[in-house]
Amino acid sequence: MTIKSFIPPQRTLMGPGPSDVSPQVLSALARPTVGHLDPSFIGMMDEVKSLLQYAFKTQNTYTLAISAPGSAGMEACFVNLITPEDTVVVCRNGVFGARMIENVQRIGATAVVVDCPWGRAVDPQALEDVLKQTPQARFVAFVHAETSTGALSDAKTLCEIAKKHNCMTIVDAVTSLGGVELRVDDWGIDAVYSGSQKCLSCVPGISPVSFSEQAAEHIKNRKQQVQSWFLDQSLVMDYWAGQGKRSYHHTAPVNSLYALHEALLILQNEGIENSWQRHQQQHDKLALGLADLGLDFIVPKEERLPQLNAVYIPNNIDDAKVRQYLLNEYNLEIGAGLGQFAGEAWRIGLMGYAARNENVVLCLSALKEALTKFA
Ligand SMILES: *Cc1c(COP(=O)(O)O)cnc(C)c1O
Repeated sequence: MTIKSFIPPQRTLMGPGPSDVSPQVLSALARPTVGHLDPSFIGMMDEVKSLLQYAFKTQNTYTLAISAPGSAGMEACFVNLITPEDTVVVCRNGVFGARMIENVQRIGATAVVVDCPWGRAVDPQALEDVLKQTPQARFVAFVHAETSTGALSDAKTLCEIAKKHNCMTIVDAVTSLGGVELRVDDWGIDAVYSGSQKCLSCVPGISPVSFSEQAAEHIKNRKQQVQSWFLDQSLVMDYWAGQGKRSYHHTAPVNSLYALHEALLILQNEGIENSWQRHQQQHDKLALGLADLGLDFIVPKEERLPQLNAVYIPNNIDDAKVRQYLLNEYNLEIGAGLGQFAGEAWRIGLMGYAARNENVVLCLSALKEALTKFA
């Protein structure tokens, strides 16, 4: 057998991520590789940091890009902040909240769970009630945009409640960054992580994170070593803080960081508020069309994520056949259900570069055809 170069099909990506990557970002990826300690590259990393501060709406010094996907950003926040003696209140309203709990448990710490129905936002009152009964809690963790269900939680209010109870906050913003309002400093978020391949529309494999000064102090003062060498932020913080000489920790994914730089620059040029608005406008168009097709959203209107539209699959319709048809006939990918909604729902992403007119029209017309064909 002769193996040839891999030429992937040209898809339109409207699932839960990765999202469509713009040609501008793809071409940045193909620029010549330089050494990761090359002076020109270090200058670019400083720009990535300030672009990330812009995107997160933060002045945090410790704002950086972890060289691994969103799950590594999640793990970095937990393993650096939490020690086995800690009690962490974790809100769970979908798959990614459950992963937070697993992170806490693997550290050997205690997770106290605020369980909320899947397909709904986290209930602030439920968090308040649990915190009243858990005075030993020092951290509150929740997912801002739950990609498994399409629910948006009120991060501002949840952080306010956490602060009232003297807790630091760990927030999953993998799907929210760039797609909906997110204000790390104004809302008092202490540790936040995201992903390159959702609303930033960059290639997968990088996780932007940011730590408040309080969180960074907490990490520096911990007595027990972080059990993960690679994710131990005390070893990389000074590198990104620009203090002292940059030295080797691991080889940065040089070309992927060019792509992230380009994606963040596109976001800054558009204006982040304009990006939030564009996601909402495209969602409104898509939602009207989906209603015309008789498809019902899982999440009530006021708690919906514009960038992740989860709808119930009609009873008479074969889930796999429809998704296969869209892929084969239209090169269009939409997402299957996840967790409690596996086989029950489709998840239609409108993330970053994918949140545009052409995609909404393509998705609605292709879905209409498939629903008629397989009814
Ligand atoms: C995608 C996602 C993750 C995980 O990110 P990966 O890049 O797939 O590791 C975590 N949390 C949420 C809410 C996500 O949507």
